[in-house]
Amino acid sequence: MSFLELSGVAKNYGPVAALAGVDLQVESGSRTAIVGPSGCGKTTLLRLIAGFEAPDRGRISLDGKELANGDAAVPAHRRGIGVVAQDGALFPHLSIADNIGFGIPRNADRRAEHIVELAYIVGLDKAVLKRRPHELSGGQQQRVALARAMAMKPRLMLLDEPFSALDTGLRASMRKAVAELLEEAGITTILVTHDQAEALSFASQVAVMREGLFSQVGTPRELYFQPRDRMVAEFLGDAIIVPARIADGFAASRLGRIAVDTKERRDVARIMLRPEQVLIKRTSREGMSGTPDMLFGEVTDCEFAGSVCTVAVRLLNSPDPPDAAAIGNTPLILRKTGMDAPAIGEIVRLTVTGKAH
Ligand code: ATP
Repeated sequence: MSFLELSGVAKNYGPVAALAGVDLQVESGSRTAIVGPSGCGKTTLLRLIAGFEAPDRGRISLDGKELANGDAAVPAHRRGIGVVAQDGALFPHLSIADNIGFGIPRNADRRAEHIVELAYIVGLDKAVLKRRPHELSGGQQQRVALARAMAMKPRLMLLDEPFSALDTGLRASMRKAVAELLEEAGITTILVTHDQAEALSFASQVAVMREGLFSQVGTPRELYFQPRDRMVAEFLGDAIIVPARIADGFAASRLGRIAVDTKERRDVARIMLRPEQVLIKRTSREGMSGTPDMLFGEVTDCEFAGSVCTVAVRLLNSPDPPDAAAIGNTPLILRKTGMDAPAIGEIVRLTVTGKAH
């Protein structure tokens, strides 16, 4: 049995099925990320696990003990679960130090040092400890909420968009620091986020949610490279999806003959590649002659965004199309490092690497 188990958990708000019967297993000491579009039920799921609300149906067990069993349900404050809500929810009348130390008994050994340590870990300056929450920025308040939850040494930590008020650089470093800290303390964690890159980098298990149900649960690599459907594929990043005919571990498509991760034969299929699997090399119209097995295109757009650029390429040929119409007019959306951004109108050679799904 897993450390945390949800089975058939459902919750309605009037006519809205916020959760439509979800199953989830979370192993002890692991990190799970839940991602999905706004309103799909992520926060509701955390609230039910935390015990702020009761499910209409289903079971939630933690460390072998049923938590949500009608009248015998374990109340939120006795679940040993730490929650960091989106808005931090700090105690406005307490100092930052007392907010962080809320769960540490007043007479505990080294209480003050422990508070300073926790503040340091979440990147808060010692100088802010005397202040009140309203004297801190949104990002600083989120860090106080995190430190407070850590201080309580929960068995399970629920993080609802805890990094959302931080700017990009700080967000990445905080995420890493918090992940390491949770790992060291052996705290099982569930993170809710809108940010697909955050989910993939933070967690060992990612669950993509849609309309109150999980579309797919798996490792970050499984979800990114082997998404179950188009929604999962597109939610976790840009995807190139093209029609293909599959046989003997290869797909014939407008992109030529590409290795696929299935042995199944399918005459009418779609394959998916991530943009970074298609390498772009500059060439010229002359460079296209005498190489019928290579794939060429013309750059129709190039959007520079610093370290990367997004390049739209209209295919000029197709070495092995499943049918004559398959080359199509829709440009492929690819990526290149910003430094090598090609110009609009340039001819490029495309090479597919890795396997399609
Ligand atoms: P977001 O990413 O925008 O925070 P979410 O995935 O966390 O969204 P939830 O907050 O769980 O989504 O909401 C799921 C659905 O349930 C939504 O349609 C929402 O409007 C509805 N809902 C949530 N809480 C309540 C409530 N207390 N009363 C009525 N409807 C609610």
